[in-house]
Amino acid sequence: MLVVVDAGHGGRDPGAIGVSGIEEKAITLAAARRLVAEFDRLDGLEVIATRLDDRFLSLAERLERIETLDADLLISLHADSLPVRPQLRGASVYTLATIASTAEAARKAHRENAATGDVAIEHSAGESAVRPIVTSLMRRFTTERSVLVAEAIAAELATVTRVLPQPLLAANFFVLRSLDTPSVLVELGYLSNAEDERLLADAEHLNRLVRAIARGVQRALFASPPQPASATSGPVDAGRALVDRAVPLLSPGPWTGRVVVPR
Ligand SMILES: [Zn+2]
Repeated sequence: MLVVVDAGHGGRDPGAIGVSGIEEKAITLAAARRLVAEFDRLDGLEVIATRLDDRFLSLAERLERIETLDADLLISLHADSLPVRPQLRGASVYTLATIASTAEAARKAHRENAATGDVAIEHSAGESAVRPIVTSLMRRFTTERSVLVAEAIAAELATVTRVLPQPLLAANFFVLRSLDTPSVLVELGYLSNAEDERLLADAEHLNRLVRAIARGVQRALFASPPQPASATSGPVDAGRALVDRAVPLLSPGPWTGRVVVPR
């Protein structure tokens, strides 16, 4: 099982800039390093990062790397920003959709896709070469798996941090367009919100976020049963409620890996 961890932005592309000047690319890199270390400790998982330093990678290069590696899962890490709504805060998890789940999700994907000046982002690489019906089946399989992982990650994140009222979103993110690698994009919080920015710059908070993501991935990949609910109140209960709803929805069974194209 190979997981690719993608730290958003990097190099000449700083991503969003926080209220006190913190750059998204630094947050995503710090989170990616931690997530790679977290996955490294797990049996049965191999992990590769698209970048582990401050380098520029286009979205096309990232997607090509994911396709070349034949990865079983992509987790792209980002931090959001919406300066016109500085009170908005919370984490969220995106999967791919040609039609965005909300106007805000569409705005987000548009901004991210434009960030590195990639061109020709209308089609996923290789998609046109595959027979349409197979493409559509693969797309459905990949989407189902992506949503399963996104639900598990969102549920775990809700136990350690504030998440958006609807933390599961979908939009047409370029980096999520692999046809056969389930892909999710995690927005760790809003850099345009002072409290979220402070938390994202806090090493302990970042550790909690990353461990939550790793737990979500583990649960989705290996279909391990949810832990018994604790007596704690607040965000933990919200998270458990999400977990309880999320698990039966797709009734995953064991992770069967990537779809195989019929010859
Ligand atoms: Zn970003």
